[in-house]
Amino acid sequence: SLAERLQDTLKKIRGKGKVSEQDVKEMMREVRLALLEADVNFKVVKQFIANVKEKALGQEVMKSLTPGQQVIKVVNEELTALMGGEQSKIAVASKPPTVVMMVGLQGAGKTTTTAKLANHLRKKHNRNPILVAADIYRPAAIKQLETLGKQLNMPVFSLGDQVSPVEIAKQAIERAKEEHHDYVLIDTAGRLHIDEELMDELQQVKEVAKPDEILLVVDAMTGQDAVNVAESFHEQLDVSGVVLTKLDGDTRGGAALSVKAVTNTPIKFAGMGEKIDQLEPFHPERMASRILGMGDVLTLIEKAQSTVDEEKARELEKKMRTMDFTFDDFLEQLDQVRSMGPLDELLGMMPGMNKAKGLKNLQVDEKQISRVEAIVRSMTKQEKQDPSIINASRRRRIAKGSGTAIQDVNRLLKQFEEMKKMMKQMTNMAGKAKKKGKGF
Ligand code: GDP
Ligand code: MG
Repeated sequence: SLAERLQDTLKKIRGKGKVSEQDVKEMMREVRLALLEADVNFKVVKQFIANVKEKALGQEVMKSLTPGQQVIKVVNEELTALMGGEQSKIAVASKPPTVVMMVGLQGAGKTTTTAKLANHLRKKHNRNPILVAADIYRPAAIKQLETLGKQLNMPVFSLGDQVSPVEIAKQAIERAKEEHHDYVLIDTAGRLHIDEELMDELQQVKEVAKPDEILLVVDAMTGQDAVNVAESFHEQLDVSGVVLTKLDGDTRGGAALSVKAVTNTPIKFAGMGEKIDQLEPFHPERMASRILGMGDVLTLIEKAQSTVDEEKARELEKKMRTMDFTFDDFLEQLDQVRSMGPLDELLGMMPGMNKAKGLKNLQVDEKQISRVEAIVRSMTKQEKQDPSIINASRRRRIAKGSGTAIQDVNRLLKQFEEMKKMMKQMTNMAGKAKKKGKGF
């Protein structure tokens, strides 16, 4: 993956005290290949490499005490810039309702995202949206939106499939005004491929609905195609934002990097799963960090804070940083993490958990986690606080007590040490990034 490739390359630089021009060149060659392999548009890659090279070879970098870090910082900043720099928010009309039109190819995730967005607007912004079923072509499309609306307990405006989308949009906006909805989210039809008829119709809807926001929904799994799709939709409709869906899948992150660069349209949201609450505001700097392999520490901490009480999260962060992190904390965190959501999703966000060698066994599945938990629970209080005292006979006892093999215990102890080291490194970096507000 892109993340792995970049990480391998950057690791070489990370360890060095000084970086020569040759190093930067070599590294850029690797980065270039990695990006191309990840399906990033070649024009985008060219520009990206040129930018990084120029900055990395510039004086400010070469004079620095830790050039390796400086290069990583430049790559990170440029990745961030490539994806839009700052987080970009959804439009708010000066006079409600705000009209949002969802467009995109069939299967991209428009209908799902319409519902997710409605949920997001209500939950995070205290809004009162109405959903509009304007896809009259796909069988069951109206029903799909109505089902989602019911699930959310939100109104869905529909006139069946015999009335034109233009008329539906018009009447829906009137209804929204009557009923004081502050957002109108129009779900439109897609096709398997871009065609003129579709574009014409969308243009007509646009004329009538006068949307404050046209969100192009793009499937991140489609690689290069995503960019082409984005380009033509943008040409025809002048879209104002992109929603990148299916970023939870095994995507070749390339699309995320190219879409903004090619269309100059900000990515506003990311779809992270099929469930209704799996839509997140898109944070370019966090995505860049994730691609660089830092793990999304900031997202993790944010998530932790909204679920766990804030003080505990802060305490934990400090512990990770100072390496006081013990097996007791590990157990406590395991419980907290479980209350936050699916384990694999959360572990994926944790620094080091994703890619680090030797940690693979820690993130496999619930069963594996339960085994780890059993091992930890078989330790004495003292052992949990100070694993360094766990000698051979203690290991045997723990294995027996937890019904595991002694190799399992050995592996866990080794992994735990590695994890602590990694967490320390990563949280240090993230801490610095947070203080500065960007980069690291
Ligand atoms: P539409 O044709 O553009 O309206 O697409 P739909 O909203 O019907 O979605 C197509 C499929 O993609 C459905 O099975 C959705 O559950 C799925 N989907 C949408 N967004 C996401 C996402 O962010 N992650 C994943 N894994 N699946 C998604
Ligand atoms: Mg649909």
